[in-house]
Amino acid sequence: MLKIENLQKSFGHLKVLKGINLSVDRGETIVIIGPSGGGKSTLLRCINHLEEYEDGKIIFLGEVIDRHNTNLNKIRTKIGMVFQHFNLFPHMSVLENLTLAPIKVKKLSQETVIEKAKELLKRVGLLEKINSYPESLSGGQKQRVAIARALMMEPVLMLFDEPTSALDPELVGEVLEVMKDLARSGMTMIVVTHEMGFAREVADRIIFIDKGVVVEEGTPEKIMNNPQHQRTREFLRHIL
Ligand code: ADP
Ligand code: MG
Repeated sequence: MLKIENLQKSFGHLKVLKGINLSVDRGETIVIIGPSGGGKSTLLRCINHLEEYEDGKIIFLGEVIDRHNTNLNKIRTKIGMVFQHFNLFPHMSVLENLTLAPIKVKKLSQETVIEKAKELLKRVGLLEKINSYPESLSGGQKQRVAIARALMMEPVLMLFDEPTSALDPELVGEVLEVMKDLARSGMTMIVVTHEMGFAREVADRIIFIDKGVVVEEGTPEKIMNNPQHQRTREFLRHIL
């Protein structure tokens, strides 16, 4: 589904991604871990082409993405993204948050998108909040709405950037449950998170990124029980 070759990205003089290679198969759940500032968010933003990069290749669904020759908006509708800070539209109801993009971008009818919105809200356990506004929701509920909103576009790949790290501890579980359900349903997912219980349960692979390089990757079993690199061991000691 996705192949990244030698991806390089700088901000001014700061080299943030120093030749990332990564392959993701259809249906895989990849968890990315690593110290703050290591380039995890930048990598996700490059995959979604929210950031330009200097060198390397991103191949998505068998097609080399070239920002000059490829319709980036079309790519973005196939890639859903969920951020740490929800980014719901505060002046819109839950239903409007979900239906805005599919009506505007996909030109679907009201009826079609409302049906779809109800189905997805039911899936994330929030159908009764369909007419609520974001301010009346808990952080966990907001994040579940944000996931449902991303799914409205029927993406084939979902990117999550620390989706639970802004939540009160008691709200983390409900969001992780929705994400586990999505992973088990066969969605292809790349998740930046330090929730190692989640990683152990649903990740096919864990990728450890530090200072702009993939230091180590492998099954949760291998990375968590038998890390090969000193940097991985040190990092895991901090978070486990
Ligand atoms: P992570 O998500 O692993 O914490 P980031 O990808 O957010 O790391 O950041 C990697 C590095 O790039 C950091 O040093 C950060 O300060 C820098 N950085 C990220 N975004 C920008 C930006 N828009 N402009 C300048 N520097 C940035
Ligand atoms: Mg980040």
